[in-house]
Amino acid sequence: MDLTLSPQYIKGVGPARASMLSKLGIETIEDLLFFIPRDYLDLSPLNFKQASEDKKGAFPCIVTGAIEGRKAKSGIWITKIPITDGQNNGYAVFFNQPYLARIFHKDDRLLLIGKMNKKFGAFEITNPEWIKFDKNTIYDFERICPIYPLTKGLSQKIMRNIVRQTLQYTYKVEETLPKQILKDYDLMPIQDAIKNVHFPKSFERLKQARKRIAFEELLLFQLAMLTTKRYFFNEKRINLYKNLVLKPFLSGIPFSLTDGQLKVICQIKRDLSSKHNMNRLVQGDVGSGKTVVACAALYLAVINGLQGAMMAPTEILADQHYETITSYLKPHSIKVDILKGSTSEKERQRIFKDLKEGKTQILVGTHAIIQENVEFHKLGMVITDEQHRFGVKQREKLVKKGQYPDTLVMSATPIPRTIALVLYSDLDISTIDTMPKGRQKVQTYVVDKAMRRRIYNFMAEEVKKGHLVYVVCPCVEENELNMVNVQDHTKMLKKSYPEIKIEALHGKMKAEEKDKKISDFISKKVQVLVTTTVIEVGVDVPEATLIIVENAERFGLAQLHQLRGRVGRSNIRSYCILISDSKDKNARSRLTYLMKCHNGFEIAQKDLEIRGPGEFLGVKQHGFFGFKMAELTRDTKWLEITRNISKEIIERGCLDKPEFGNLKKKLYRKYDLPDC
Ligand code: ADP
Ligand code: MG
Repeated sequence: MDLTLSPQYIKGVGPARASMLSKLGIETIEDLLFFIPRDYLDLSPLNFKQASEDKKGAFPCIVTGAIEGRKAKSGIWITKIPITDGQNNGYAVFFNQPYLARIFHKDDRLLLIGKMNKKFGAFEITNPEWIKFDKNTIYDFERICPIYPLTKGLSQKIMRNIVRQTLQYTYKVEETLPKQILKDYDLMPIQDAIKNVHFPKSFERLKQARKRIAFEELLLFQLAMLTTKRYFFNEKRINLYKNLVLKPFLSGIPFSLTDGQLKVICQIKRDLSSKHNMNRLVQGDVGSGKTVVACAALYLAVINGLQGAMMAPTEILADQHYETITSYLKPHSIKVDILKGSTSEKERQRIFKDLKEGKTQILVGTHAIIQENVEFHKLGMVITDEQHRFGVKQREKLVKKGQYPDTLVMSATPIPRTIALVLYSDLDISTIDTMPKGRQKVQTYVVDKAMRRRIYNFMAEEVKKGHLVYVVCPCVEENELNMVNVQDHTKMLKKSYPEIKIEALHGKMKAEEKDKKISDFISKKVQVLVTTTVIEVGVDVPEATLIIVENAERFGLAQLHQLRGRVGRSNIRSYCILISDSKDKNARSRLTYLMKCHNGFEIAQKDLEIRGPGEFLGVKQHGFFGFKMAELTRDTKWLEITRNISKEIIERGCLDKPEFGNLKKKLYRKYDLPDC
């Protein structure tokens, strides 16, 4: 039997069932073999007393008397069967299945599968699955029973039978992993894994089977990422770093670095002195000081005769980086320029010329710096800030302006390591895990709408002190859900506080208009900014001390933490007030969690656990990464291990060896990779 054939060739599957299976994504016999149960039922025999109320169990029992059938007032037909497990008595109750009275008789031996409850002192099991034995059968079927995802028209019983029929073709599945890998990581051969994932001999075997299948999925994924990366980036270093002395740079900045910053700088230095190009992600909580780390990398490039470029997602951020970098590099007579959409033609021409001649050593800017006419003399270091705004394509464009430059990606969105390993698996990951000394925590409160007036009076007091305030709403315009919206809320606040300069800012505005409002805010021409989440990304406004979030229950934990990071950027005491009238217990506890937790990575991890990877990343559809078995939250360890193995496989060119043939075949088929 060819595994790529339609399931229709399996006994018990006709055209109708084949089309039901197709709804479950099963198109071939192979798909059936890899159709992973969503759960398992433990069918180890229990007596009634061992039952736990909320968990299904399997109960061998004997029918002790006559079957009762009657119509209840509600019109439901109730069949009641008296049973015993040998020690205790009880009832099995079925609804609307009057024919059962003809099937069950006194002294029948049954296996009932379901939830056994105690009702009015008697054991009772309602609508259980049942198996009837004849006098001679012994209890010897699978003790662990799969539960499959189903679709209309299919039952567990049918599905189990189909899979059981299919399993006879398991011998056709070829082993993908080389013997050595199976041995080194104590993995089950694929055929055993398939059998045990459907009908496990024991829970231990099931665990082994899952591990085997998850391992292969993760390995293939990592290999795909690395293969793609190799396709885009030349791995071999051509820019040589003879001088890695940072001391002059460090003595030129107004503070000493945190341990976290030093650690990451060390990793960067190691990259620069290795044989391969650097492709590194630096992630750190807002305010952890990523800019100085980026600047250190730029400095190293410059003192080794190379140029550096740093790309930011908005003009304002580009301006802020430019100012910071110029001030950090002041003692070193390094020429830094800034190129934005709004740069004048004359200045633009001057920059183009200086860049090409190598006079400009560092170029900071927006995506204006990836335009075609921007040419470098010798671009060796490419840094992008807030990467999720750019994506790989834009990073690539900048990379192509140099001769195999090193790259550094800065991200202010802390993400759990598991997710980072997947999302950025083409990058090495550094984390700045300490905050600069003396940074105070933003005081966080959760309040309900009844407190609104007091909160906004507090806002007015903060403004009087010369501080700046953000008010964040979940949407821009009036909406059906009756959530606070930017437009109406701005009007309302302007009316209540005519003495305060209040402005609205949201994503539907043009970029220039947004930039204008933010710069007015920075220069205090605007004191209160009513806005949506557009302010999430790294703008630094030290005088902002209060952020009020309306309908806070509408936001994810990680997002709220990002928002909170907009304040508390100086030594002035700062506040984050989350307004919510939600009565939902989970929503409340999510919000109050922020009162005590201030660590972006912990919050991101929690957010991931609550919402799952899809929601967390803003991708709802199931199986975004194409994993059927691997679970990012559970399989962290295997994610790391397979990552290291795949690196080794690629670096040693193993994929071309015969024992990796099947793995390579599967890799190219699953991920549709270009032939190298
Ligand atoms: P982010 O990681 O959010 O990009 P920045 O690089 O903008 O953080 O730094 C935030 C602020 O912290 C800046 O004002 C910077 O000068 C300051 N800073 C950075 N590193 C240190 C340090 N080691 N000690 C004290 N202040 C620091
Ligand atoms: Mg930053």
